[in-house]
Amino acid sequence: METVRELYRIGRGPSSSHTMGPARAARMYRDRHPEISRFRVTLYGSLAATGKGHLTDTAVREEMAPADVEIIWQPDVTLPQHPNGMRFEVLSEKGEPADGWTVFSIGGGAIRDESQLNDPPESPYPFTRMDDILGWCSDTGTALWEYVYQHEPGNLSDFLKTTWVAMQAAVSRGLQAEGRLPGPLGLSRRAASCYMKSINATDAVRSQGLPAAYALAASEENAAGGLVVTAPTCGSCGVLPAVLRYLQEVYSLSIERIHRALATAGLIGNLIKTNASISGAEVGCQGEVGAACAMAAGAAAQLLGGSPGQVEYAAEMGLEHHLGLTCDPVGGYVQIPCIERNAVAAGRAIQCATLALLTDGRHHISFDEVVITMKETGLDMSVHYKETAESGLARHWLDSERRGRTRN
Ligand code: SF4
Repeated sequence: METVRELYRIGRGPSSSHTMGPARAARMYRDRHPEISRFRVTLYGSLAATGKGHLTDTAVREEMAPADVEIIWQPDVTLPQHPNGMRFEVLSEKGEPADGWTVFSIGGGAIRDESQLNDPPESPYPFTRMDDILGWCSDTGTALWEYVYQHEPGNLSDFLKTTWVAMQAAVSRGLQAEGRLPGPLGLSRRAASCYMKSINATDAVRSQGLPAAYALAASEENAAGGLVVTAPTCGSCGVLPAVLRYLQEVYSLSIERIHRALATAGLIGNLIKTNASISGAEVGCQGEVGAACAMAAGAAAQLLGGSPGQVEYAAEMGLEHHLGLTCDPVGGYVQIPCIERNAVAAGRAIQCATLALLTDGRHHISFDEVVITMKETGLDMSVHYKETAESGLARHWLDSERRGRTRN
C-alpha cells in the first residue's frame, strides 16, 4: 500500500485516469526525448472511448508541446493488462516509429508501465487490511489516523495542510462561479444557487443543502478543468471536501482535526485502491464515488467522536451501499451523472457516519469483505458500464439527442 501522497493529487480535471494520468505519462516520455519534435500516441480502450470528453488529447498535447503529436484513437482495442492503455512512440522524419512505451493509467492519476504493473508498489505500511489495522489500534490504544501518521514517510502534516488548502480552494472557487460548464451538454453550474438557497433555508434543509452545495462546487470546478484534489479520483473529488468543510463549520473543528480526518480518509481510500480498485474503467463508479463516500463516511465518524470500529463501520456502509454502481458518463463528460452523484454521496457519507455512531459499531459485513466484494462485482460488470459512455444513461441521452430532445 502506497503513501497517501499517491492518493491525494493536486491537478487539473476533469479526470484523474483520463486527464491527469495521461498528462503525467506524456510529460515523462517527453522528458526522455527532449530533442524529438514528432510523437505518436495511441489511446486504447476506455481512454479512447471517452478521451475526447475527458480532454485526454489536449492534456497529452499540452505536455508534449511544442512537439507535433499524432493521436491514434483505438476505442475497440483494449490491452489485456488494463482498460486504460496508451502507447507512446517517437516518429522519425519519415514517420517511422521507435522506442515504444506502453503505459497504463490505473486510476487516481497514477500510471504504471508493463514492468511495474504486477509489482506491488513500495509500502511504508506493515498492514494492508483493515482488520489487521484495527488490531494494531486495539493493541496500541491508538486511532486509525495515528496509523497513518506513524508510518507515512516525510512531513505528513505539511502534505495534509497543502492538500486541505487545495480542496478548500476548489470548493470556494466553485461556489463563486456561475454559467455553463464546457462541452456540448449545456449543463449549468448549480453550486452557487444551491449554497444561497441552503443558507436561507430551515435547519433540516440547510443540513443537506450545504454539503451538497460544497460537493457540487468542487465537482463543477473539476468538470471545468479547474485545479482539484483527487479524493480518490477527479470524478469523485467533491465528496470528501464537502463533508469535511460542512462539519468543520458546524462544529468549529480545529485544522489539526481536519488533517487527522484527511489521514483516516486517505487510509480508507488507500485500502480500497490496494485491495480492489479506484478506477471507473476497471470497476465502475463504485470504485470512484463509492470509495469517496467510504472515505468521507469514515472521516466524518472520526470527527464526530467515533471509535476505530465505528469509523470502519461507517466506511463499510459508505462503500456497501454503492456496490454495483456503474460508470456511464453522458457523452464521455465528467458531468452527468458525476457532479450530482458527488452531492448525493456527500449526504450519504454523513448518514453512514451518523448511523455508525448511533450503534455500538458491531456489524456483520466487514470493510475488508465489502472491498473484495466491490472488486469482484466490478470484474463481473459488463465492460459497457465501465467508463465507455456507451450504455446506461449515456446511451439513452444519445438516443434522445438523435430524436431531438428538448432540454429543461
Ligand atoms: S460515472 Fe463515476 S466513475 Fe464514471 S466518470 Fe462519472 S464519477 Fe467517474
